Amino acid sequence: MQEFRVRTRTRTELVDITGDVLDAIQKERIESGICLVFCPHTTAAITIQENADPDVVADFLAELNRIIPFDDRYQHSEGNSAAHIKSSLVGCSEMLIVEGGRPVLGTWQAIYFCEFDGPRTRTVLVKACSSREKDPP
Ligand code: ZN
Repeated sequence: MQEFRVRTRTRTELVDITGDVLDAIQKERIESGICLVFCPHTTAAITIQENADPDVVADFLAELNRIIPFDDRYQHSEGNSAAHIKSSLVGCSEMLIVEGGRPVLGTWQAIYFCEFDGPRTRTVLVKACSSREKDPP
C-alpha cells in the first residue's frame, strides 16, 4: 500500500491527484490490475471528474455547497456536518483499472481529492493489485 499527503488551501476544494496516484501505482510495480484510491477521512472524498474546463469543478463545488449548506440546524457539535454529508454522498474511494502501469482514464478525466472541511493536510491511500501472476505481489 502507498500513501501520500494532500495539502488543501480552502474550506472546500478539489485537488487533482492523478499524478500522485500514477506515482503510487508505479511504486507498487503493478503493470495490469485494479487500483483502489481511498480517503481515510470523514469530511473529504475521492471522485473522478473533468479536468479540461475548471468551471466544471467550480460548478460541482458550488452546487454541493448550495444543496448541503454549511449551516442548517445540524446537531453535530463540531460544526462540520455539511462536510460529513458531502463526504458520504461523493464517497471515500474510487476503483480504477490499471494497464501498462497507469490508471485507465477517459481523455477528460482526472482523479480528484475533495476537501469539504479544509484547509488541512490530508492522507490518500492507494492499493494496487495485479491481475497477472508474473507481476510482483
Ligand atoms: Zn465532525
